[in-house]
Amino acid sequence: CLKNPRMYFVYFTAAPLCLLVFSETCRYPLGMTGGQIQDEDISASSQWSESTAARFGRLDFDTGDGDGAWCPDIMSEPGGFKEYLQVDLRSLHFITLVGTQGRHADGMGNEFAQRYRIKYSRDGGSWMGWHDRMGNQVVEGNKNTYDVVLKDLEPPIVARFVRFMPVTDPSSIVCMRVELYGCEWLDGLVSYSIPDGHQMIYRGLDVFFNDSVYDGATAQRLTKGLGQLTDGAWGLDDFLHSHVPGAWPGYDYVGWSNKTFPKGYVEVVFDFDHIRNFTSMKVHCSNMFSRGVRLFRQATCFFRSESEWEPDPMTFRPSAEPLSQSGRFVTVPLGDRTASSIKCRFHFGDQWLLFSEVAFQSGKTIRALPFTTREDPTHKVDDSNTKILIGCLVAIIAILLTVIVIILWRQVWQKMLEKASRRWLDDELTARLAAQTQAFSFLRSSQSSEDGSGSGSISTYERIYPACADYQEPSRLIRKLPEFAECSGTSSRAGVGSDGAPHYAEADIISLQESSDSGSITAVNMNLFAGSDLTLREFPKEKLTFKEKLGEGQFGEVHLCEAEDMQDFLGEDTSTEGSSESPLLVAVKMLREDANKNARNDFLKEIRIMSRLRDPNIVRLLAVCVDTDPLCMITEYMENGDLNQFLCSLRLKTLTGGEADQQEGSDEVRYSVKLLGMAVQVVSGMKYLSSLNFVHRDLATRNCLVGKNDTIKIADFGMSRNLYRGDYFRIQGRAVLPIRWMSWESILLGKFTMASDVWAFGVTLWEILTLCKEQPYSQLSDEQVIENTGEFFRNQGKQVYLPKPQCCPDRIYVNLMLSCWRRNAKERPSFQEIHAQLTETR
Ligand code: AMP
Repeated sequence: CLKNPRMYFVYFTAAPLCLLVFSETCRYPLGMTGGQIQDEDISASSQWSESTAARFGRLDFDTGDGDGAWCPDIMSEPGGFKEYLQVDLRSLHFITLVGTQGRHADGMGNEFAQRYRIKYSRDGGSWMGWHDRMGNQVVEGNKNTYDVVLKDLEPPIVARFVRFMPVTDPSSIVCMRVELYGCEWLDGLVSYSIPDGHQMIYRGLDVFFNDSVYDGATAQRLTKGLGQLTDGAWGLDDFLHSHVPGAWPGYDYVGWSNKTFPKGYVEVVFDFDHIRNFTSMKVHCSNMFSRGVRLFRQATCFFRSESEWEPDPMTFRPSAEPLSQSGRFVTVPLGDRTASSIKCRFHFGDQWLLFSEVAFQSGKTIRALPFTTREDPTHKVDDSNTKILIGCLVAIIAILLTVIVIILWRQVWQKMLEKASRRWLDDELTARLAAQTQAFSFLRSSQSSEDGSGSGSISTYERIYPACADYQEPSRLIRKLPEFAECSGTSSRAGVGSDGAPHYAEADIISLQESSDSGSITAVNMNLFAGSDLTLREFPKEKLTFKEKLGEGQFGEVHLCEAEDMQDFLGEDTSTEGSSESPLLVAVKMLREDANKNARNDFLKEIRIMSRLRDPNIVRLLAVCVDTDPLCMITEYMENGDLNQFLCSLRLKTLTGGEADQQEGSDEVRYSVKLLGMAVQVVSGMKYLSSLNFVHRDLATRNCLVGKNDTIKIADFGMSRNLYRGDYFRIQGRAVLPIRWMSWESILLGKFTMASDVWAFGVTLWEILTLCKEQPYSQLSDEQVIENTGEFFRNQGKQVYLPKPQCCPDRIYVNLMLSCWRRNAKERPSFQEIHAQLTETR
């Protein structure tokens, strides 16, 4: 209005201009009260104190942790008209209404803004002052501290940033809480540029077609602003009248006379927030041909995505000359062209061209112009968007419901499995307990004298890892395995290997030593390993002479050394053990220097365990060097290395003694006899361990060593790993499990027993009989191996067994190997039985 002195002649009522406001639908609170507007998007020029910072300026938001409103620092800006509370809506919005409130603070507040001004910006750079249609910039605000005063913005504004600027006496403190109402500006139109509108004299009456609310620059052309063409109101049929009570004739329309356009068209440029895909443009035009006003004859639109206008414009001519004089929307198809600017030339159809509104459809987006009082062909409610929104919500709800149903279903199923499995485990445990009671009575008595635990039950089953419900369902295992350690307690009790991942066998050793409450088997082993009669002594390191490196394991390198005076040191004649040399050749396993504390502890624990084992088929620990770093354990030297490598390097010929002319059948017999002889030695060692109720947990050829005359001894109580990394399944960097050797219940229930060692022996036997030429289940991935374990659990006949090795006698495969992999652990043979069976067979 200030731009145009003609407006001073116009009388406006103070009544709300209902038709000009999106009163029905575009009056949503934009999030000051509801919190959708974030604290960081509310700022201010100053604040009276931290407790009256901008973020407290939310309408209807009382004290919270602040003092109940935003209050500027009156001292900061003498004059008091420059302070502002700024809201960043993050995107362009069509704002139709604002609300303000003072500081009530539960009756403590006494400040409010009686008047204020509004500034807004679309880009945060250039700011426009809002004014009403009369040109008034100052808005009447609050009269008390608590009532909300709403103010319709007429005209509405399109903005991203809005500032509320209290107009106040500099000496008084003023506080505000605010809310903005409107809807998102989906058109994306940020400005249009037009020639300023003309004046018509109609029967002596001045009719003004200027853009009276344009908020951009007004030189020869109006540029960089929005105005009446986007104010959401379109003109009446008779342009002399207006929606706006008391407005001057022609108020609703922006119009031009053809006299000043020699080329016969008016050029309008539209600029958008970003490149869009335009479907159509709708232009509301007057068609009062009786007064020389008609729809445009032709519209030619150019498109620009970058700096240049594209050469091929879209041209559109309205089909038939409408007979009616009523104003109407004309839809100009834009052919799905992409652009960030559109320049349209509207050719005069008569002497005058009058537009009241322009809207764009880009992609599926139509600008929301929700109000209407009559049938409106361009009803601009963003119908498609609403549908998409509703569609998305329905989809999300459907997905959520599905997920909930699945979760519930799985829980029910899990519980059923858990019950079944518990019942089965209990049966098994009871039976085992009964069977073992007698065998361990002597241990019980010695145990009771030591720790006072009295008649604690003794079980073959080492329930170190409580069965966890999550493991009742094999199909979830891969997902649940990372929780394996946590669920079963492994991580808390297991040492962490030198590479940071606990080895499951380490966990076993540690649990043997540390768990005093996890069942009698642990107590038995405690009794065995934690006694005070350790016979191991410190061997002088200087008496060790390095010969060669034998290998490298989890703790560090293993060296072949000469040990001077070892026989004297041991005080025994080692020739009975098959080593009569002097100095004695020994294997020295050294803890690597950079080993962490956990690895060091694990190393010492292994020493303690090994020091108690003495059997022809268990590698013997001779001495230790633990007084100085590096820590060393000295074991008997096994000339032929580990069984895996040993077998790998063997050929059938060697096994059969190289008699090439022998019959194939007899070759096979010799071959299997020799290999079975090796297996017997492994079983013999395991029989010894089982007699002590010691669960090895990592029986495999890689953990057996081969000495002179093909003597085989079980070693490495869970420590050899590097060379055989592929044999272990790493659980997210935490635990490594030899899953291909593990029984289903070890994997799924975390249960390790003699019976699970028997399962591992079955696999070890298979390795021996296949000469370790391939990894067990080599055709299956780790995940598939675990899935197969699930099949063992489900027992629907879908489980896959290791195949019969080529030279394995049928009876060994059927009667022995397969029996080691029986689902029911009770039905698997004991090591005594296996030993008897194998010796018989040989
Ligand atoms: P470990 O640290 O026990 O896993 O051993 C690593 C490697 O060193 C093994 O795979 C063997 O090849 C070798 N090794 C370990 N102990 C002995 C031993 N007593 N006699 C011969 N070689 C051994």
